[in-house]
Amino acid sequence: MGEFEVTLCSDGTYLLDGGAMFGVVPKTMWSKRTPADELNRILLGLNSAVVRTGKHTVLIETGIGNKQSAKMREIHRNSPQLPASLAAAGIRPEEIDIVLNTHLHFDHCGWNTTLHPDGSVTATFPNARYFAHAGEVAHGHLQLDRDKVSYLSPNYDPLIESGQMTLLTAEGVRANPEIVPGISVEEFPGHTAQMLGIHIASRSHGGASEHACYIGDLIPTAHHLDPTWVIGYDLDPVRCIAERKRFYARAIPEQWTVLFTHDHHTPAARLSLNDKGKPVARADWQIRVPPVSAGAQLP
Ligand SMILES: [Zn+2]
Repeated sequence: MGEFEVTLCSDGTYLLDGGAMFGVVPKTMWSKRTPADELNRILLGLNSAVVRTGKHTVLIETGIGNKQSAKMREIHRNSPQLPASLAAAGIRPEEIDIVLNTHLHFDHCGWNTTLHPDGSVTATFPNARYFAHAGEVAHGHLQLDRDKVSYLSPNYDPLIESGQMTLLTAEGVRANPEIVPGISVEEFPGHTAQMLGIHIASRSHGGASEHACYIGDLIPTAHHLDPTWVIGYDLDPVRCIAERKRFYARAIPEQWTVLFTHDHHTPAARLSLNDKGKPVARADWQIRVPPVSAGAQLP
């Protein structure tokens, strides 16, 4: 992408309830786009992006990780594989110098830290500075009935205690959104109150700028592009609809490459409007991957 190299890696796939992922959308509609198994679960990806800017190696999002209980792994049918995926791309954990989390739900920051057989938890990326939103940490620590199962403190508390994780504030993000040159963050509230989108902006050799955006759970898959097809887990679905429209107002005319965190099949696409005026993945500009060989599978 311009002068940057962007590599899509993955912590594999997992299963979630299809109804929860599509909120109020009827199953008769969403199941045409993504099939459900006999337990009503759909297959989702856990996509990370590694951006080599020339000066920095930035990891966006770290999947589910290896701290899940056997029971949770049985429910989600996931098989942690981000370290192997990074190794396959020739990326050593020591090279990563920036780690960014869009928010701190368990399926976005799991490999921030690694659980060892002796029960200890250490930073997976020893030389990285980690960044997350202070509001996400505060919300996770509240352990509210609605979403406490999504916030697992071993994914971030050890990094905060060691000083390796920098907590961003709303004022800080607005005043100084750039993390390193070419990589910046922006709040897209709704899924959580402070969810961050990650902008990747590079000049191409010809001088034109290229823009990609890792939009986190505001738009988890290419099946969720309709502004009203928001997720059941969203804390504020009405805000999500407004934020999606705000996103499309720039992403479509400026032809951003949109990176989808949970789409195992189409991890990236540029967008256009179809004949009904709805945003869709451009047929002539999307990255498609064949079904993965490890992790959750639908029959
Ligand atoms: Zn989430």
